[in-house]
Amino acid sequence: MQIDAFDFGAINQLHERLCLDFTNSTPYHFNLDADHLNTYADLLSWCLDVDLLREDEVQHLLAAAELQPEAATAAYQKAIALREAIYAILAAISHDQPPAAHDLNTLNTSLAEAMAHMQIVPRDGGYGWAWVGGEDDLARMLWPVAWSAGELLMSGDVRQIRICDGHECEWLFLDTSRNHSRRWCDMKVCGNRAKAKRHYHRSRSDT
Ligand SMILES: [Zn+2]
Repeated sequence: MQIDAFDFGAINQLHERLCLDFTNSTPYHFNLDADHLNTYADLLSWCLDVDLLREDEVQHLLAAAELQPEAATAAYQKAIALREAIYAILAAISHDQPPAAHDLNTLNTSLAEAMAHMQIVPRDGGYGWAWVGGEDDLARMLWPVAWSAGELLMSGDVRQIRICDGHECEWLFLDTSRNHSRRWCDMKVCGNRAKAKRHYHRSRSDT
């Protein structure tokens, strides 16, 4: 199994919160045909891109996946199910709607698995959380993702979740602007496209 040289930088990750970057690993949620994550190797490639796993950890998981292709496919499917559940929860919240119970269940199941691997360790003269064990667990990258979603839901930032206003863009972001006026995932991408469209319509109506 090979890691595709897919450049996630080209799809312009926002690098906000890990769980948001994960939901933004596909352009659309209503149609997953254009998904950037189509295999377990794609999932590992994404982990590298967001610095979730080191190169040696990715190579270790790739080798493990080669030996157990069915388990790798199951881990990949679990990742997509978790991603879509997190998206559905956050999208509902952004619309002031309660999330569906089955989506919360999916997240809670992943959180339970994650917490079994979380321990307090001495760090920098104090203590910190660390992911311990499970080096061979093909779904280990989902633990910090689920944790990130849990942290976001418990934080004040949950009120700032927005879906991009861009045409056919479904990316999630946090509107931390002072007057809560952020409309686009990325001004350079969706913002400029919207401006160009407005300009086009204005110049057409002028003539
Ligand atoms: Zn957008």
